Amino acid sequence: MLKIGITGGIGSGKTTVCKVFETLGIPVFYADTVAKQIMTTDFTLIEGIKTTFGSASYFEDGSLNNKHIANIVFNNEKELAKLNALVHPAVFRAFDAWDAKLSKNIPYSLKEAALLFESGSYKMCDKNILVTAPQAVKIARVTVRDNVSEEQVLARMNKQLQDEEKIKLADFDINNTESQSVILQVLALHKTFLELAASYKQ
Ligand code: ATP
Repeated sequence: MLKIGITGGIGSGKTTVCKVFETLGIPVFYADTVAKQIMTTDFTLIEGIKTTFGSASYFEDGSLNNKHIANIVFNNEKELAKLNALVHPAVFRAFDAWDAKLSKNIPYSLKEAALLFESGSYKMCDKNILVTAPQAVKIARVTVRDNVSEEQVLARMNKQLQDEEKIKLADFDINNTESQSVILQVLALHKTFLELAASYKQ
């Protein structure tokens, strides 16, 4: 089945755009949500984390000791890279398992990931979409949604690749601002993906 990756910077509205695709019957795999879930369910990942960051990474009841991990990886690029090297392949495994269970009648699926390009995950998708919005709009949305300061949003933004870099790797973009209808942009892409899916089947 055709696999479409979708990403965008913090506050770009990628989750909102995915909800529009869902109304068209397109299943969406939310990689960041799944990444949190598999921290306590994927045996290979759990063992990898314990080996790399110590058995204190998990409490006796099997729940994740977020504070322990955060203390190690916070502001430490090398340790964060080690964590990502464990989590990203586990998310890929979860996506493959999820995708394999989808009905064969579904024309395509979406994989939504904040770090689609940074993780290399985009290479496993047939096409990739970048959701964009001006920096000021993204900041305004996130400060309201998460009740955080502009500085906190900027700090999170600076950890991601900039749109100028991501756009080079994307096949399509969706401009999620009030000046353009997101629904019309999604419908146009949906049509393109249906045609592509049909041509893949032939
Ligand atoms: P993050 O990476 O932080 O999870 P995201 O890219 O998934 O963000 P959303 O959560 O979809 O972004 O949107 C951020 C906020 O902006 C939400 O509160 C959402 O309701 C709002 N928003 C998204 N798109 C629009 C839009 N076109 N018009 C108005 N508000 C919007």
